[in-house]
Amino acid sequence: MDDLQHGTRNKKGDWAPTEPLGLAPIWSWPPQPGAVARWLVGYVWPWNLVALATALAVWFLVLPDAAQMAELSWRWIVPLWLANTAGIALWFGAFEARLYRRRAQERRFKYNGKFPAEQPSDVFWFRSQNLDNALRCFLISVPIGTALEALLLWLCASGQAATVSWTEAPLYLAGLALLAPIVHEVHFYGIHRAIHWGPLYRWVHAIHHNSVNPSPWSSLSMHPVEAAAYFGVALWMLALPTHGFIAVLFFHLAGYGAIVGHIGFDRIELGDTHAPRSSAYAHYLHHKHFDVNYCDNGVFPLDHWFGSWHDGSPEGERRMQERFRRRRERVNASSSAS
Ligand SMILES: [Zn+2]
Ligand SMILES: [Zn+2]
Repeated sequence: MDDLQHGTRNKKGDWAPTEPLGLAPIWSWPPQPGAVARWLVGYVWPWNLVALATALAVWFLVLPDAAQMAELSWRWIVPLWLANTAGIALWFGAFEARLYRRRAQERRFKYNGKFPAEQPSDVFWFRSQNLDNALRCFLISVPIGTALEALLLWLCASGQAATVSWTEAPLYLAGLALLAPIVHEVHFYGIHRAIHWGPLYRWVHAIHHNSVNPSPWSSLSMHPVEAAAYFGVALWMLALPTHGFIAVLFFHLAGYGAIVGHIGFDRIELGDTHAPRSSAYAHYLHHKHFDVNYCDNGVFPLDHWFGSWHDGSPEGERRMQERFRRRRERVNASSSAS
């Protein structure tokens, strides 16, 4: 496919889409029912449906019944951890293999003209972004996420958390499952803003940002504190009567869903004429510029409301540079006053 029909490439080889990022049409006035209907389909398909499908697979194929989960035991926690590790390895690995190893679409629709393997750096373990990111994902983030998931499953199964069953309240639980991606988005925005605060950034979040040119393994490359805060989204389920499956769903939304912003390509070519958009651009811009797009603004345009939105357009770039200039002036003024 000719990616220059959809965007431009600069001298460095970085490609950018022509069409700026938009906000969810639920915020548009006058209302746009057609756009809202298309957006609702996009809310479920494909990313959140993948999380739901993999969560259901783990619930039915890996986890035992509540009586066994009522006891904290390695007999069910180790299989859960192995399933999470294998599932994430296969899911992230499929994108890595196709786009970064085989380079099936070469650099077409690739935001950064370089591949991480071409840029060894001392900031990474073994000077390799891929190795560093994959090791942090599987040695740190997946075990921490699994531990939180297991804790919540145990609290539900042992009666220490208030629960309802699917036969008692199917619509209520389906509603919780549908709201979970929104809780994840708002939670991520909150913790993400917090770990961009200077001392926390240097101690915790800088590790994730070492990957200026993110790729699939970057998705869960985190400091342990960030991994705990990130997967800690599942703790919100304790705010209301709940069900153990919601803990599994939260793990999958946060874990499997993390790849969305880190694919590094704007479109995934599926044949000669079909290339759906990946939704990776907002978070790619965050890795590139740091102080923009703290969440993907999928439902709530939080960055737009709080002034950190960058839609990828020249106007968005100008607004960001203006904000950075004002901040530099404030810093300079306070340092010359002290
Ligand atoms: Zn990231
Ligand atoms: Zn960040």
